Amino acid sequence: MLMSLSTYILGLFALALTVQAAPAETTALKCRCLSSNPSCWPSPATFAAFNSTVDGGLTAISPPGKVCYPGPHFNEAACNTARVNSTNPYYRGDLIGATMYQKNQGDAIGVDVCPVYPTPNGACRQGKVSVIGVDARTVAHVQKAVKFAADRNLRLAVKNTGHDQTGRSSAAGSFLLWTHNLRGITFTDSFATSSCPAQRQVPAVTLAAGEQFGNVYREAEKRGLVVVGGAAQTVGAVGGFLQGGGHGPLTRSYGMASDQVLEFQVVMADGTLKTANPCINPDLFWALRGGGGGTFGVVTSVTVKTYPTPKTALALYGITTKVPGDVAAAKALISNFINIQPEFEAQGTSGYIGFSLGGIQMQIFQPNGTEATIAAAMKPILDHATLDKYNVTGGQGAFPTFFTAFDAAGCITNPGLCTERVGTNSAIASRLIPTAQFSTQTGKDALANTIFGMLDAGAKFMLTHLVTGGAIAKIPVHDSAVLPAWRNSLWHLLIGNGWTANATAPEIAANRAASTSQAQLMRNLAPASGAYINEADAKEPNFQQAFWGNNYPRLFKIKNTVDPKGLFYCKLCVGSEKWSADGNCRLY
Ligand SMILES: Cc1cc2nc3c(=O)[nH]c(=O)nc-3n(C[C@H](O)[C@H](O)[C@H](O)COP(=O)(O)OP(=O)(O)OC[C@H]3O[C@@H](n4cnc5c(N)ncnc54)[C@H](O)[C@@H]3O)c2cc1C
Repeated sequence: MLMSLSTYILGLFALALTVQAAPAETTALKCRCLSSNPSCWPSPATFAAFNSTVDGGLTAISPPGKVCYPGPHFNEAACNTARVNSTNPYYRGDLIGATMYQKNQGDAIGVDVCPVYPTPNGACRQGKVSVIGVDARTVAHVQKAVKFAADRNLRLAVKNTGHDQTGRSSAAGSFLLWTHNLRGITFTDSFATSSCPAQRQVPAVTLAAGEQFGNVYREAEKRGLVVVGGAAQTVGAVGGFLQGGGHGPLTRSYGMASDQVLEFQVVMADGTLKTANPCINPDLFWALRGGGGGTFGVVTSVTVKTYPTPKTALALYGITTKVPGDVAAAKALISNFINIQPEFEAQGTSGYIGFSLGGIQMQIFQPNGTEATIAAAMKPILDHATLDKYNVTGGQGAFPTFFTAFDAAGCITNPGLCTERVGTNSAIASRLIPTAQFSTQTGKDALANTIFGMLDAGAKFMLTHLVTGGAIAKIPVHDSAVLPAWRNSLWHLLIGNGWTANATAPEIAANRAASTSQAQLMRNLAPASGAYINEADAKEPNFQQAFWGNNYPRLFKIKNTVDPKGLFYCKLCVGSEKWSADGNCRLY
């Protein structure tokens, strides 16, 4: 939600008159300057001068729910819109003050401190929503914002769509750089990597920082092409997704999203714009492909490979036990699904399977598949689901392009929106399951027991992403900073424990602890594997090893070289161990 900048600046003047200067040590360079500290936070005059350098893009920010509270912000219509759209990722993504999950706008624990349904006499607090930031529309705006924050030692938050589960795109008391409106999609038949004459020229698309997959997929579809992206249409194509690796329904066919990158344009911590490709700044190029978003610089655009769209088969099924609570039947279904691996992958399938003690839900894609090939792939699953024990709903079919299949799957699964809903808080955790796990019956049984152990322990949801293996496994480990475990895994298994909008701090803490302890079963099963930075436990133990394995020392060195002052801090990101848990003070 936007507040008029002049109102904000007037407020700052008032604050400056009433608040005494904080002790000098709070502004020491060891700690970031926060908006709560008037002794270092930029003055209204400084903000006003800066605003003129970013074409008026400086914006005062309130939590989205503020319009539901008595006072100058109250707006009944806007409040109703906020209530109706709380799970709509398009609505949330268009708000500078919102993230996709309320927990990342809340207090340090994740309690909603500005609920859209206020409690009697309840107040709206700012939580982790930055008080002011730049709605960047050009690369120059990004450069100016980064330099403004760096020169003043401000706590900087970089937000694109706000999808990050760990809360990496919001920070209490921070100055925000919002990339959502930095748009542009340019296709070429033959991309020439700058200063890299030996590189083969390939069909490609250049995407500006704010582009989201729904838009990118549609533009590619118009040209008979595909771009490797994620399962949700509202995830950003350039930010944390891509820089953390990025998996999706096409990654088994072409490699991870980060494997598709030909070149980046990046604003560095000193505000300069750099190119990174195999020939220019190759270390940075290596790090940005898997090293994580919000860490090395702000990517303003990326050029990635495109491919001719494959015709694609799709199967959508829900199989539930006929007798509610027939846990043995549900487990038999899950065991059967494990037992048909890796043959299922060898048939060119990818997708998503939800496991529960009530049955399984399946969204399966088969790029280049036909009605006959998808039927053959699904047969061992459907044959097992005998009608005496299971209810089977759904069907399968073939589509002329990838996007037509993808969009159909989204619209059937999420009627009206056609992509995943957000807003419902949860604590997630994940693990890559090695391909070797499926090579013996003992390994398969151990995986089944791990899954059952997590479900029996109360995991509220569980999803296996059939997105790794295939082309991902053919790309050399040293090619990029992506966690090496991606190259020898077949599944990415994710669990979560959610809470309601008005959950208390102890309830939230209990759910977070449950995910961490349930995920320990996956860590025990595959101790040498790892977890995906973008969908990991916010308390992942030894996160450096879990997210990057042997790549971590090189990443740490690159981070120290390109951002020695740690302007780009985010939780469980490369170099974050140098900072206090809230990211505000440097420890060493
Ligand atoms: C509904 C949903 C579906 C998802 N589906 C998938 C999926 O299919 N596959 C998958 O791999 N992941 C998926 N994810 C996880 C997703 O990859 C992460 O949430 C990712 O962090 C989103 O990146 P973003 O830029 O869109 O989000 P943001 O939250 O805005 O940013 C995430 C991080 O990247 C940084 N960042 C953002 N933009 C830039 C930039 N231009 N330069 C440098 N740093 C930047 C931010 O500072 C932050 O640290 C999904 C998440 C959700 C909520």
